[in-house]
Amino acid sequence: MKKIPAFRKALLEWYDKHKRELPWRGVSDPYAIWISEIMLQQTRVAAVIPYYERFLAAFPDFRALAQAPEEAVLHLWAGLGYYSRARNLQKAARQMVEMGEFPGGYEAIRGLAGIGDYTAAAVASIAFGLPHAVLDGNVMRVLARVGNDASDIANGQTRKRLQGLAQEMLDRSRPGEFNQAVMELGATVCLPKQPLCAQCPVVAYCQARTAGRERELPVKGRRNNTVKVERTLLLIWKGEDVLAWKRGEESSQLRGFWELPEPEHLAGAQVVHSVGEFRHSITNHQFLFHVAEARILRKPKGFYYVSPSHEGDTPLSTTTRKALACSKKWRKSFPGS
Ligand code: SF4
Repeated sequence: MKKIPAFRKALLEWYDKHKRELPWRGVSDPYAIWISEIMLQQTRVAAVIPYYERFLAAFPDFRALAQAPEEAVLHLWAGLGYYSRARNLQKAARQMVEMGEFPGGYEAIRGLAGIGDYTAAAVASIAFGLPHAVLDGNVMRVLARVGNDASDIANGQTRKRLQGLAQEMLDRSRPGEFNQAVMELGATVCLPKQPLCAQCPVVAYCQARTAGRERELPVKGRRNNTVKVERTLLLIWKGEDVLAWKRGEESSQLRGFWELPEPEHLAGAQVVHSVGEFRHSITNHQFLFHVAEARILRKPKGFYYVSPSHEGDTPLSTTTRKALACSKKWRKSFPGS
């Protein structure tokens, strides 16, 4: 406890000197900070940067986002995955239009669609300088190592305790930067498998390092419940257009996105040849998709020919885009087919 002020100082000095230059760093607009935080959930920084820039260019503020057609929002999100994030962004933007502003308090931010404890704390601290500590995977790893804490971080009680500890450690004079500094340390130095302790600004305060246990921590309850599934997607062309169906309002995932048919959708489809396969993971499901070109005699109800080159009007699911990429590659290998 006595060492907390020195820990904060060492960490913030390191952050001021070594932080990565990222497009959302140094930004004070809560809208832009919020967009970056939502995009960064479950997605790598390098992958987020072009999406962030395109999204802000298209929707520079919450009013523009609130007014945009959902398909335009999904189109700019296509490839980032977890599409409920994009829908919730738009819902929250509409809530802000009703409020007349981007809310400036933690509770009001926490009340917006798609915002949990982490995002509310991140936006409140970074955009508004409010003293709320963030707790994500990077922060938990740093805290578990600094405290040489072998509790299971998958456990709710452990998380609650670590949230309390993060709050205690927070530098209340620079809460946004302190939060970002802990996350930056976890992302660039206190790495999961190979922590770079020799470069660590807080090595003097790290009890796991002193005990030689840094690589054993944090402890996370392991579940090996991966489900492997094989499926086939059919490409049925009519000129440059491909047969697809649109996920409707009732769909719990990927609502509004266009999908390719599978053999069970089209009983009479005749497979002409295979064009490849690809893997795709969703939560604990690992899919192996076989992609084949096929023919049908008659277009069934509920299916439409859509143009893959007009994706702005017809957002394609990631698996559809991957299947189309297989077809493109196949055509390059067998020109004139
Ligand atoms: S000394 Fe090593 S284990 Fe400890 S916080 Fe720094 S990088 Fe992580």
